[in-house]
Amino acid sequence: PSHHGWDGNGAAVVPTPMPKRLDGKVAIVTGGARGIGEAIVRLFVKHGARVVIADIDDAAGEALASALGPQVSFVRCDVSVEEDVARAVEWALSRHGGRLDVYCNNAGVLGRQTRAAKSILSFDAGEFDRVLRVNALGAALGMKHAALAMAPRRAGGSIVSVASVAGVLGGLGPHAYTASKHAIVGLTKNAACELGAHGIRVNCVSPFGVATPMLINAWRQGHDDGAADADLDLDITVPSDEEVEKMEEVVRGLATLKGPTLRPRDIAEAVLFLASDESRYISGHNLVVDGGVTTSRNLIG
Ligand code: NAD
Repeated sequence: PSHHGWDGNGAAVVPTPMPKRLDGKVAIVTGGARGIGEAIVRLFVKHGARVVIADIDDAAGEALASALGPQVSFVRCDVSVEEDVARAVEWALSRHGGRLDVYCNNAGVLGRQTRAAKSILSFDAGEFDRVLRVNALGAALGMKHAALAMAPRRAGGSIVSVASVAGVLGGLGPHAYTASKHAIVGLTKNAACELGAHGIRVNCVSPFGVATPMLINAWRQGHDDGAADADLDLDITVPSDEEVEKMEEVVRGLATLKGPTLRPRDIAEAVLFLASDESRYISGHNLVVDGGVTTSRNLIG
């Protein structure tokens, strides 16, 4: 098969140079300092984009920006704070000649992953507020300020948010997280209806489990009931290679598609497609990247 470097007739496939799909475009990626966001930033840069990383992690964001070169910069931005989001957009516009083509709402938090957080009987209003502020309000503010920058230029634009399979099905995450991801899918549809008049497309991507610091820290917590009071999102540490491999094995076991391992790059490829002109007639869509899981009845035993 062609993915082994051979075409269907057994002849070697000659690699052709990869076309740059975001050449000259300007993109903002929230939560771009690590995990899925980092993979999006790297792929966007590979495809010729100038990228602004908007994140609360100054150290990781600055380090990634300087490693990737002058076409990448970092701006500190808490997506749940409107002034920060407005400032990140201003920063991109002032640095790149008033241009903004792509806005990627990727920043997110999972919230507490304990048994209590997963039961409606012990639903916690404070936790709900905290998670919704980052994931749902953050995405809405991103859509607002991206659209305010894109619409007057009359050059279209693409807003891509990272939702989750927990934005499609129940039973996959704590209540606050599930509600926040369903909210992103809804916001995407609403904003697409309105912004289509300006040629701005609005879509989202819904990943299944990717072995990022977020997921691995949650998995650790899920195996430790004593961690019930830990503030998970503020205490995320870099996972070891061994933990990444173990997590990937768990996800491979759940996916209905057997063979490939789901990597941050796979999510980034879907985001790239929706960000680029190749998807120019697609708007209001939720592109699920899950190895078939949400279409299967055997999700979790
Ligand atoms: P991660 O925790 O590894 O990375 C998240 C990044 O967002 C970090 O750089 C963090 O500093 C930043 N961030 C957190 N809060 C922020 C805020 N208020 N403002 C700005 N930046 C903030 O997580 P990840 O797994 O890479 O997740 C990225 C996105 O993908 C999230 O929206 C997440 O919900 C979604 N997602 C992840 C998975 C998965 O399995 N990892 C599955 C489905 C969806």
